[in-house]
Amino acid sequence: MRFEQRFSHSPSSPLNVYSALGLDKMSDGISSSSSSSSTTATTSNQSLESSFDPDNDAPLGYALAQLHEIYILAENVQGLVLVDMHAAHERILYERLKKAVKTGKIIRQPLLIPLSLPAESLELATVESSQDILEKLGLVIDILNTNTLVVREVPSSLYKADFSRLIPAVLRDIEQFGNTDIINEKIDNILSTMSCHSAVRSHRKLTLPEMNALLRDMENTQKSGQCNHGRPTWTQIGILELDRLFMRGK
Ligand SMILES: [Zn+2]
Repeated sequence: MRFEQRFSHSPSSPLNVYSALGLDKMSDGISSSSSSSSTTATTSNQSLESSFDPDNDAPLGYALAQLHEIYILAENVQGLVLVDMHAAHERILYERLKKAVKTGKIIRQPLLIPLSLPAESLELATVESSQDILEKLGLVIDILNTNTLVVREVPSSLYKADFSRLIPAVLRDIEQFGNTDIINEKIDNILSTMSCHSAVRSHRKLTLPEMNALLRDMENTQKSGQCNHGRPTWTQIGILELDRLFMRGK
């Protein structure tokens, strides 16, 4: 895809979609490139507020609206861009988590109020036997009593996720992959689960700056054209295609 090539050497500064989406700062330790000097910060803010300008051809363009609170509609030089916002955000989080885990730089953040979750004995056993892997994933989970666990710390980049759903899903993954040897091979699967549960949900209203932040982050994320399950995250409908649709100029 044409844009993919351009993304790979896109010089624009990575933006912080997480703060823009209320998903907390992307402070998982891999954000060195976004340790923004005041100059980049200014540029970022400007491009977040911008509307379409044909001379400033951000590959994915600038957001126009949200469709059914699922898709982002954006305008770029070629025409219309349609983005599946959940799928796109999920990929961004996934790539960042992978990088953070690989470099051992996942940054944890204590929850303001530790989260108590009801748990089956199998889940409690998993928590007990998998402390090292949980730590690697940026999670600090304790056993409170025979049917409750407590989530104390989480990856800071996922701070706003729904942990009452994310934690059981992660424990299921760990149970499924069993012993530690396999789990290290399967860690990307678990990170994919975590990203899915942390990405912005459909039917959430986004503002234009939030949508633009997501577009800019897509431009700066590897493989952002595909979600973690291999489905496309965005598509282009060119002006010529639209013209054909309406038989303009015929
Ligand atoms: Zn998902």
